Amino acid sequence: MNLPDIKEARKRTTNQTEYVYLNQEYDNKLFANQKYFLRTYGCQMNVHDGEEIAARLESLGFTSTDSIEDADVVVLNTCAIRENAHDKLYGFLGRCKHEKEKNNNDLIIAICGCMAQEENVVKDIMEKHPYVDIVFGTHNIHELQDLLINRTKKQNIDVYSCEGKIYENISYKRESDIKAWVNIQYGCDKFCTYCIVPYTRGKQRSRKSAEIIKEVEELVKKGYKEVTLLGQNVNAYGKDLYSDYTLANLLSDVADTGIERLRFVTSHPWDFTDEMVDIIAKRDNIMPYIHLPLQSGSNKILKLMNRRYTKEEYLKLYNQIREKVKDSSITTDIIVGFPGETEEDFEETLSVVNECKFDGAFTFAYSPRENTPAARMEDAILEEVKMDRLHRLNEIINKYSNEANQRLLNKTVKCLVTSLSDKDKNKVCGYTENMKLVNIVGDKSLIGKIVNVKITDAKSFSLDGEYIK
Ligand code: SAM
Ligand code: SF4
Repeated sequence: MNLPDIKEARKRTTNQTEYVYLNQEYDNKLFANQKYFLRTYGCQMNVHDGEEIAARLESLGFTSTDSIEDADVVVLNTCAIRENAHDKLYGFLGRCKHEKEKNNNDLIIAICGCMAQEENVVKDIMEKHPYVDIVFGTHNIHELQDLLINRTKKQNIDVYSCEGKIYENISYKRESDIKAWVNIQYGCDKFCTYCIVPYTRGKQRSRKSAEIIKEVEELVKKGYKEVTLLGQNVNAYGKDLYSDYTLANLLSDVADTGIERLRFVTSHPWDFTDEMVDIIAKRDNIMPYIHLPLQSGSNKILKLMNRRYTKEEYLKLYNQIREKVKDSSITTDIIVGFPGETEEDFEETLSVVNECKFDGAFTFAYSPRENTPAARMEDAILEEVKMDRLHRLNEIINKYSNEANQRLLNKTVKCLVTSLSDKDKNKVCGYTENMKLVNIVGDKSLIGKIVNVKITDAKSFSLDGEYIK
C-alpha cells in the first residue's frame, strides 16, 4: 500500500527527470469478454490520461461499454481542481456501490486521477468506501494492468507523491482519428496559491523534443489533421531541460512535420516570449488561437494568487498577440471571489475584460483546496457575493463572445469538420482556425476534411454555416 503524502508532493529538487521507456506486453485474452466503463472528469490533461487508461484496459482484452450495468470494471478518472469535482465523484460512487451489490460484489471499482493524489480523499475512501477495490494516482497509470491482474480481495491503494518521471512508449486509444492531444510537459512548478495541480501532478517535466516530434510524425502518417500540444503552462516548456530549446523552437519543429493544424494549451502569460508570438504569427499551420488565463484584473489579487505578472504586463502581451497574429482569437480563465477580493478588485477584472473583449472565457468561483496557501488566507468571500460576481462577469463575457462571433457573419472561413451534429442529422460540426464551433449544413463525407464555410448565423457560443465547394 502506498498512500499520498502532501509533504512529498510539495517537494521540488533540481534533479534531472528520469525518462523511462516502457516495454509492456500483456495477454489480451486475460479479460476477454469483459467490459470496462471509464468516466473522466476535468481538463484536457485528464481526457488524454483517459485515452491511455482505455488503451491499457483494451490491452488486457476489455472492451468498452457506456453503461455501468454491463461493466466488469469501472474506472473513475477524477479531477480535484474545485470542490464540485469531489461532489460529482461521490454522487457517482453511490451508483457504483449499488451496482456492485447487485452483481454479487463482482464489479471492480477503481479510482484514479487528481483526487486520488489527495490525502483526505484517500483517507475517506479507506474509511467510508471499502467497496472501492483499487486507487492509483497520476504517477502510475502505467501500473494499471498489473493492479488489475494482481488484485486481491483487499482494497489496494497505490498512490505515489513524488516529483514524477516521464514515461515514453505509451499507447493511447484516441477519442478521435482527426484531432489528437500530444503531451509536451507534465506537472507544474508555478504554485499559484489557489491551485492543487502542483501537488497532484508533480514537478514540471518536459518531454524530449525528439519524442514529441516522432509522435506527431506518426500522427501525420496516420492521417491526423490537428495536434494540440498539452501542458499546464506550455510556455515554460524546456526550462527543466536546462537547454536553450524553448516552446518557440518546438512549435517551429512540430510545424515542420506538416501537420495541417497545430495548437497548444495552456499558456501562462509569465513565460510567453516575443519569439513565441512571432512564430505563431509566421507559421500558417500554427493556429491563431491562444488560451491566455488572466485569473484576475487586480494587481493586489494577482500578487496574492502568485501569478507573477501584473495587469499591465498581461495587457501588453495581449495587445502584442492581437497586433502580430492576424485574425487571432484569445480566450481566458478568470476566478472571482478569491480571498480578499473587494468590489473594487472585481471591477478591475471587469475593466480588463472590457478592454480585452475576449472571444470567450471559462469563469470560476474560487473554491478553497485543502493544503494550498490560499485556503489558509483570511477574508473569505461569501458564496452569495461570489455568485453575484460570477453572474455579472458572465454577462459581459457572453456579450463579447457574441460580438466576436458576429464579426464572422457572411465571411468565408476554413473549418476542420470533426463529427456529425448531435442535434441535426443534416449538419456536421467543425472548428475554424481560431477555434470557433460551426454547425455546417453538409453530410458525413465532409468529416475529416478542412473545408471553406460561409458563416450564415452567429450566436454567443456557436456559428452556423454553409459548405462552399
Ligand atoms: N495551467 C493552467 C493555468 O495556469 O491557467 C490551467 C490550470 S486549471 C486546470 C484550469 C483553471 O481552473 C485555472 O486557470 C483556474 O482559473 C481554475 N482554477 C484552478 N484552481 C481553482 C480554484 N481553487 N478555484 C477556482 N478555480 C480554480
Ligand atoms: Fe495551477 Fe498555476 Fe500551475 Fe496553472 S500555472 S496548473 S493555475 S499552479
